[in-house]
Parts: sequence; structure tokens; C-alpha cells
Amino acid sequence: MKVMIGLEIHVHLLTESKLFCRCSSNYDGKDPNSNTCPICLGFPGSKPAVNKKVIDSGIMIAKALNCRIAPEMFFSRKTYFYPDMAKNFQITQYEIPLSNNGYLEVFDKKIRIRRVHIEEDPAKLVHVGGGITSAQYVLADYNRSGAPMVEIVTEPDFIDTKEVREFLSKLTSILEHLEVFDASKEGSMRADANVSLEGGERAEVKNITGFANVEKALNYEIVRQKNLLQMGMKVQRETRHFDADTNTTVTLRKKELEEDYGYIFEPDLTMIEIGKVWVDKMAKQMPELPDQRIERFVKEYKIPERDAKVIVYVDKALADFFEACVKLFNKSEFIAKWIVTDLLKVLNWNGLTIRQSKITPKLFVEFVDSMDRGTITERFGKELIKELVPSGKSVRELIKEKGLPKKIDLESVIKEVIEENKKAVENYKTGNEKSIQFLIGQVLKKTKSSADPNKIREILKRLI
Ligand code: ADP
Ligand code: MG
Ligand code: ZN
Repeated sequence: MKVMIGLEIHVHLLTESKLFCRCSSNYDGKDPNSNTCPICLGFPGSKPAVNKKVIDSGIMIAKALNCRIAPEMFFSRKTYFYPDMAKNFQITQYEIPLSNNGYLEVFDKKIRIRRVHIEEDPAKLVHVGGGITSAQYVLADYNRSGAPMVEIVTEPDFIDTKEVREFLSKLTSILEHLEVFDASKEGSMRADANVSLEGGERAEVKNITGFANVEKALNYEIVRQKNLLQMGMKVQRETRHFDADTNTTVTLRKKELEEDYGYIFEPDLTMIEIGKVWVDKMAKQMPELPDQRIERFVKEYKIPERDAKVIVYVDKALADFFEACVKLFNKSEFIAKWIVTDLLKVLNWNGLTIRQSKITPKLFVEFVDSMDRGTITERFGKELIKELVPSGKSVRELIKEKGLPKKIDLESVIKEVIEENKKAVENYKTGNEKSIQFLIGQVLKKTKSSADPNKIREILKRLI
């Protein structure tokens, strides 16, 4: 059954102040409702003024997503009744958004971007004594209210969650390279995921926080809809909520129609002319984007494209880390190999990003260098890195603590194996190539897999 997925992604922008007032965009750790003013609280008579920096960021994002940028844009009021917006409308863009008609490529396929627009975040609601549908009461924290966001709306072009995952990781990397977004901040990206199966109505799962949850919500929703259709029932057009505790989605409300929001132009703000001069100025300020960076990594550092893609798309900090390492130690291919395999594995295992971990380029280079010089074997390195990453200790310190693995005299082990397996040796001599594989296996067994198979083969051939 064909699956159709479309995303509406809300991204918090890293500006100093909120979208329409001078309150700070950074309210981490502040007392509830302390980071507010009459504008972001929505007092009657307060007048919004647009933060130009937000439009700067919006233009760069739109350009990076290959969008057409409107020559002039308006803000609109989206009217609704809910305690996260005391003024009963959200200032967003509807009729004439900042930009539209873009795309982002995933797996050589263009995912069309319908629009990228600017809007304010509503207040944060804290549900007490239960979840969104069962709470006893709700607390409203307006610190977040009026924080600047862009909303990125895709066409329903995704056919599975794999494409969604790739899209989101590419998008994050782009936003990080533009330095408009901090992915490590809790709730800095929220998505609404729309899903339908061929011929059926679609459900919209609202307000999913974090990537992993988008995927979980989609997987659940696809199975739920398939089951309904298989039982001969219909999928309802509705808005659902993702419950991160149970990894399921539940009905929130029957879908409201666009008309229900009664959009009108925001009368307190004027039309904003964007124009070529502004767009060109932002284009000039745009830093290197992920795809260009990947290309440069391949050319400049001669690393495989596959490795470059992994390094740049995991997160910008990892790409910065790689470049810092290469500056200290010029064996870029070796560094890249160790980053995309063992370093990432250990980071994942510990649930850390490179920034959160204690490993520095200096420590990592010391580690890679000691394998390159043969001070430690790569096999031992695979063990060592498991402690290197979370501890932040140097290779030297770790070796001091753990001691180097006992050196084995490979040649004498191989001689032993030859003595003990005369028949296999004879078979090999008479042209049975498979026998050498068996002999290598025996040596590996005796050395507890600490020796390099190619080296064993070399010595075996010499001794036989
Ligand atoms: P709404 O008015 O409900 O917000 P839109 O037409 O603006 O609906 O689309 C919102 C999102 O729903 C977009 O991301 C779009 O790609 C997605 N979408 C539209 N139709 C479908 C569908 N049949 N299946 C899945 N997603 C869809
Ligand atoms: Mg919508
Ligand atoms: Zn304010």
C-alpha cells in the first residue's frame, strides 16, 4: 500500500530577541512568565515591531532550501481559542509568506517544499497530573511566547520514514551551518506529521518533539491506518497527538479547516518589502552549506564521499571536529575512517553528541596517531576508544591505567599451528586455497583474534 507523508516543521531561530518585542529569545532556566512584556503576553493595545534579524535568517533558510523569495510579504493573524495565546491569535504568515516553491534532495529525489514562513511561538503549556488528554490542570508559561520560528512545509512527497529521517538530518545540518538553529536545545524543532495511505484520508500528528519521535509517530500511524483499512474501516480525517511514553498516537480533535482560523492580515504591521538588494546581501553572507562542504572534504582531504556525507550530516560540530583533527594530523583518510566507524558507534552507545562528549581534537588525534605509529594496534584501539570518549582521558593515561595488551609472538604461534595441522598444510600445498583460510582461523583462535589476518596469511605463506 502506498504511503504519503508530508511534514510541517517548526524551527526555533537563534536570535537575541523575540520576533515582535525586545524580550530575550533565550529563556532557559528563567522563572516561568518572567521573560515577558505586554507585547508577548498579548495585552490589548500593545503593538508588535518586527525583529529584522528574524527575516535575515528566514531569507537564508529559504535560499538554502531553493525557494522562491517573495518580493514583499505580510504577516497574518491566525485566530483560535487556546490558553497558549492570550490574545487569541498567533501572528504568522498565510496569504503572502516569505517564500515558497523550494526543494531539498534526499537520495537523489527532490522533496518539494511548499513554503517557508515566519511565525511566533505560542506559550508553553505544562500539563499537570496527566498527559495532554488527561491532565488535571494546565499551567501556562509565556517565556516562550513570541519566540521567533520558521515553519517549513513540505509537499506530501515522502513515501517512507527512511526518506523522512534523511530529510530531517539534512535539514538540521543546513540550519546548523547557517548558524540559525541549535539542535541540542530541547524542543528547538517540532513537527506535525501528515500521513495517509493510498486512497484514504490523512491524519495529522501534531507537535512531535525531536527526530526520533517523528519516526516513531509515523511508524505507529502507518500501522494503525493499514490495520483500519484491512478491517474494511475508514481512516478519519483528524488531528492526533503523539504520546512519547507509549509511542502511540491518540485522537485529539477532528481536523479544523483552514476557514476556521479566520485568517486576516495583521493590521498592526505593514507590508515588508524584501527586494533583490536584501536577498543578495544575505546570499553573500551565507556560509558554506553541507553539500558544498562534503564536496570540499572529498577534494581537499581526499576522503571517500560516503564518509564525508556521514560526518557532515551527523551534525555540524562533528564536521568541525573532523577539520580540527585534520589540522593537527594530516592523515585525513585515517581520521575519517575512525570517526565514521568507532567514534560514532561509541558516541551513540553513550547517547552523546560530539559536543557533549569529553573528547577533543587533540585527544582524538593523539589516539589515532598512536595507532598510526604502531604504539597500539587498531584492535586495541577499538577497546580503548570506548573509554576515551566518555572519560576525556588521554591515550597515555589510559594505557597507564589498563596496561598494553601482552604482545604475542605471532611467528611462534603460527609455527605451532602448522605443526598441529599437517593435513591442512598438505592440502594447501596441493593447491587447495581454502585450507589457508582454515589455518588463519586456527591462528586467530589462539591469539584471541588480536592479530591481523592479512599479516597471518603473509607469514603462513612464507613458512609453509
Ligand atoms: P492543512 O490545511 O491541514 O494544514 P495542507 O494542505 O496545508 O493542510 O497540508 C499540510 C501538510 O499536509 C503538508 O505538509 C502536506 O504535504 C501534507 N499533506 C497534504 N495532503 C496529504 C496526504 N494526502 N497525505 C499525507 N500528507 C498530506
Ligand atoms: Mg497544518
Ligand atoms: Zn516580550
